Amino acid sequence: SSATERDEWLEAISKSIEEYTKKRITFNPSKSLEEADPEKQEEDSPLGSKAPIWIPDTRATMCMICTSEFTLTWRRHHCRACGKIVCQACSSNKHGLDYMKNQPARVCDHCFRELQKQDNQCTPKSGSPVNHKSPSSALSTVLQSIPSGRKQKKIPAALKEVSANTEDSTMSGYLHRSKGSKKPWKHLWFVIKNKVLYTYAASEDVAALESQPLLGFTVSEVKGENSESRVFHLLHKNTLFYIFKADDPHTAQK
Ligand SMILES: [Zn+2]
Ligand SMILES: [Zn+2]
Repeated sequence: SSATERDEWLEAISKSIEEYTKKRITFNPSKSLEEADPEKQEEDSPLGSKAPIWIPDTRATMCMICTSEFTLTWRRHHCRACGKIVCQACSSNKHGLDYMKNQPARVCDHCFRELQKQDNQCTPKSGSPVNHKSPSSALSTVLQSIPSGRKQKKIPAALKEVSANTEDSTMSGYLHRSKGSKKPWKHLWFVIKNKVLYTYAASEDVAALESQPLLGFTVSEVKGENSESRVFHLLHKNTLFYIFKADDPHTAQK
């Protein structure tokens, strides 16, 4: 029934939020989405060597690092290295980027640390020349030769690259969503994957309309007038974010 479906969504979302809390992981959407090891990413394309694909402004309501919400005065900034949208506090550093001819450009704190690491690696230690038979370069040759399709995965446009029909999603299905009690309902396709809630217009869509990391969110079921309530709330820091309503039994779809 639809109440069961509602409960399944509640469980899936709660689980995603729980995982954040349990592992205390730092929010890093590109990492969690692609499950890519940043060390290995560097093997084929060091940070800053290519222009990132900018995540469109409208997709982010909060900083992708510290999750502080953007307002008219707390503005969005793009990291020139990874393309993420972050707040000014999380992008206070500048670093030279290869693709920008090493001109200092705004980078997020994550990238700044990575770039500093890269700087250190590039400086030869104690003046010894880089030996091509050194274990580390042998390893990197091995890593580069693995045809793992990583080249495709490292595109930071991960947000729109996640197809609505993604197979390893935690949960997917149609739900009605409203932004407030007096706002109209929209019938949309939702996918939860790697603790991120993606919104699509339809299940066949390749590009998500929105993506919302579930860090800092809570869900609560809503007791309706009738016992079979299909409604639940998604809250962020006790503010109502969205109201969801499970499909009626006839159109319910997984
Ligand atoms: Zn921030
Ligand atoms: Zn960055």
